[in-house]
Amino acid sequence: MLSEAVFATLFDAEARYATFKDKWPHDFENVTPRMLADNGFIYSGNEDHVQCFACGKELQNWEETDNIMDEHQRRNECIYVSHIKSGGSASDLNLERGIMILKEIYRRTIGAIDNGAVFEASDLKKCFNGSKAKRKPKKKL
Ligand SMILES: [Zn+2]
Repeated sequence: MLSEAVFATLFDAEARYATFKDKWPHDFENVTPRMLADNGFIYSGNEDHVQCFACGKELQNWEETDNIMDEHQRRNECIYVSHIKSGGSASDLNLERGIMILKEIYRRTIGAIDNGAVFEASDLKKCFNGSKAKRKPKKKL
């Protein structure tokens, strides 16, 4: 399982996509890093194990014929999938849905802490710095 606190930085589809970079083991047409990232998934870096930033669903052992959204929704209610299905895209989460997802992330985080998970200070840092910290500074002319 990925660190829950890190999830708050992964609202950004590009940040999710970056987790797959040069590491994804498959070359399937129906299960690409871009499609997985747009569907809310983050790559764990381990085999083909991914996890949704919003609902926390974990999936692995992908096959060429899999449909990402079907797998994501199986016995699962995901706010992010509802957003995509209602015509939303990876880049237009509104505030209301964003807050619902954050609440879900915090609920899971608190559950994990109750179960004895320990978070590092660096997890919190990632939370607050977000992906902005990784952007290159503007070039001076
Ligand atoms: Zn989900």
